[in-house]
Amino acid sequence: DSTDLPEWLSRLNEPQREAVLSTDGPVLMLAGAGTGKTAALTARLAWLLRQRLAWPSEILCVTFTNKAAREMRERVGHLIGPAVEGMPWLGTFHAIAAKMLRRHAELVGLTSNFTILDTDDQLRLLKQLIQAEGVDDKRWPARQLAGLIDRWKNRGLNPADLDALENEAYANGRGQRFYALYQDRLRSINACDFGDLLLHMLNIFRRERDVLEQYQQRFRYVMVDEYQDTNAVQYLWLRLLAQGRRNICVVGDDDQSIYSWRGAEVANILRFEKDFPGAKVIRLEQNYRSTPHILGAASGLIEENSERLGKTLWTELDGGDKVRIVGVWDAPEEARRVGEEIERLEREGCPLDAIAILVRAQFQTREFEDRFLQIGLAYRIVGGFRFYERAEIRDALAYLRLIASPSDDLAFERIWNTPKRGLGDKTLEKLHRYARAQSIPLLRAAIEIADTDELPARARGTLVALARDFARWRDESARLTPAELARTVLDESGYTAALQAERSTDANGRLENLSELARAMEEYETLSDFLEHVSLVMDNDNSADEAKVTVMTMHGAKGLEFDQVFLPGWEEGVFPSQRSLDEGGLASLEEERRLAYVAITRARKRCTILHAANRRIYGQWTSSIPSRFIAELPEVHVVEESSMSGGASLWRAQWSEQSDPFAHVARNQPGKVASRGPGWQRAAAQPLNTAPRRIAETGRSAASMAGKARPEFARGTRVFHEKFGYGTVVEQEGNKLEIEFENGGHKRVLDSFVKVA
Ligand code: ATP
Ligand code: MG
Repeated sequence: DSTDLPEWLSRLNEPQREAVLSTDGPVLMLAGAGTGKTAALTARLAWLLRQRLAWPSEILCVTFTNKAAREMRERVGHLIGPAVEGMPWLGTFHAIAAKMLRRHAELVGLTSNFTILDTDDQLRLLKQLIQAEGVDDKRWPARQLAGLIDRWKNRGLNPADLDALENEAYANGRGQRFYALYQDRLRSINACDFGDLLLHMLNIFRRERDVLEQYQQRFRYVMVDEYQDTNAVQYLWLRLLAQGRRNICVVGDDDQSIYSWRGAEVANILRFEKDFPGAKVIRLEQNYRSTPHILGAASGLIEENSERLGKTLWTELDGGDKVRIVGVWDAPEEARRVGEEIERLEREGCPLDAIAILVRAQFQTREFEDRFLQIGLAYRIVGGFRFYERAEIRDALAYLRLIASPSDDLAFERIWNTPKRGLGDKTLEKLHRYARAQSIPLLRAAIEIADTDELPARARGTLVALARDFARWRDESARLTPAELARTVLDESGYTAALQAERSTDANGRLENLSELARAMEEYETLSDFLEHVSLVMDNDNSADEAKVTVMTMHGAKGLEFDQVFLPGWEEGVFPSQRSLDEGGLASLEEERRLAYVAITRARKRCTILHAANRRIYGQWTSSIPSRFIAELPEVHVVEESSMSGGASLWRAQWSEQSDPFAHVARNQPGKVASRGPGWQRAAAQPLNTAPRRIAETGRSAASMAGKARPEFARGTRVFHEKFGYGTVVEQEGNKLEIEFENGGHKRVLDSFVKVA
């Protein structure tokens, strides 16, 4: 009888309410996008608490992201008041497992204050192990091993569980050994990595009956959102926990399983009924999020997949625009077009935070960021760094800055040992002291110091080579276009090779970002023009609470919704991704299609899909083919709008691009575009590299005073050198001294490292 129910519960539809009220026994809520699964799960949580069916600490509730957990907590608080304070077990798998593991750390040889390593620490540790074992870490990069170990952990495998094939995957049959060594090492430093959080807990549950039983008793209710993206270890862990009281409710959508590359197994949702016999399966079919055309387009698309349970979706919402397919000439036009539309939407009263641009690959954000800077549009990159802030882009920019301005010490410090050249902190310290004393830039100091005995021969050789590289690149910068220069530098410095050697998905993404950087540079005539542009983009960090357009990956957008969604880059090779096409399997293509389904169903009011006729790849125009997913959208739900419709305009566009090679450049010159917003104006007034330059200048004035005070070292002066000890000056040549040291040895040293004894 729904009259006794709180208003928020009677507002739910019948099957949603059933999911909320079916508190005893296993429940599977299997339903398409936007049908209110998360809403129902949230209501269920509120209901359990309101009815005192459990204390907050007796409910285990897993969300896919920390943000989703926060929102759920807020929402429940909104529904039933502050009673929800302290829901210790509401969070992501990782957050929950970490909390548990702190309580039982000693059972796996850790103490409760164990450290959780970040990726950098993890890689450093692995590298040490690899080198200590005498394995070539160029051929078998640490990152590759890290990826394998992560995959094993996601599958719930301990070192002893690996089979021969797994073992073969690294360093000719030493996978198992390295995995075991790594685990030992982690234990000895009282640390674990992310993958360990769940695996350790799973191991504990399997070995220690009493601990498992304690949790099985505690958790009266277990609930999981986005169940289709659980991996093996999460699944095993959950199943053990829920088998006590069997009050488990999971919700998901097999059509939205998009994380198989991270070990997620859609099979988990398909076998739920087997694991929990008698499970109540609830299907939701009414979609509350999207207008009929959006829903129709997405449903039509996903029907192309063969491996799915299949479901019907309908909506009571009516009207709404068809999904728009917009063909543009190239990526800059794509960004321009989206920018214009967003400005129009803003004028019409649409708040910026109701708008999202969802991309397939990180590199795609660059064009939009550049454009939004030019027109002064506030945006935020969610779940990643802004393009020019990504580590590999900063590295590349540091090289370029140092070529353009050899006194850019910050740039030098960023790249002097990146990729790894075997230089240590001691060397950098020396360089710093010397550079300060002489009031010269670090790069210059590197050359001068290499001419002395202050550093070990190896370091000297490396520094000389580096300095020569920079001298050569600087020469070449006059002759090469900025983009050519960037590619040369990335190749010759070994930066690209180091990334390629990693053979990881992550490294692939970073390589893509670097080619996108070169692509961005195609639009500039000189290196300094480009660097100027970048410094402007970097400064465009507008205030935190201003409404902003969201730019993020489709993967990151799971579970979210926006009024207006733009989906750029729907071309073969971008989306579906080149990798999914190369792998060629049906499975990877179907996963891409599920991703397309997720992307379209994020839209509430309007969805715009864009595809460019041309992409510039390594300076060459290549024409691209619209994504097969576009062709798969049912015609009744889409409308095509091509800026190049009609052969004439297509021809015009093509013609003007080719006959006027600078048409492109002119359009994209930052200075020629009307701008607004204080960020832009402030930025425009500033020269490039303001910060480093300022530092260099302060350094110079302090040092030049020190320079005036520099003593002359007369022949025969007895001096003390911190490394070589006492000695007598034989010769002075500028800032370099020839010294006969008392413990033997004739060395060339720098005067700033020497005191009169
Ligand atoms: P996804 O598969 O994308 O995660 P979902 O199934 O979790 O989607 P929700 O995010 O819970 O869907 O709901 C989608 C939208 O529908 C939300 O804006 C939500 O507030 C609204 N909604 C959910 N249930 C109802 C309902 N019974 N009546 C009205 N609106 C609803
Ligand atoms: Mg949801």
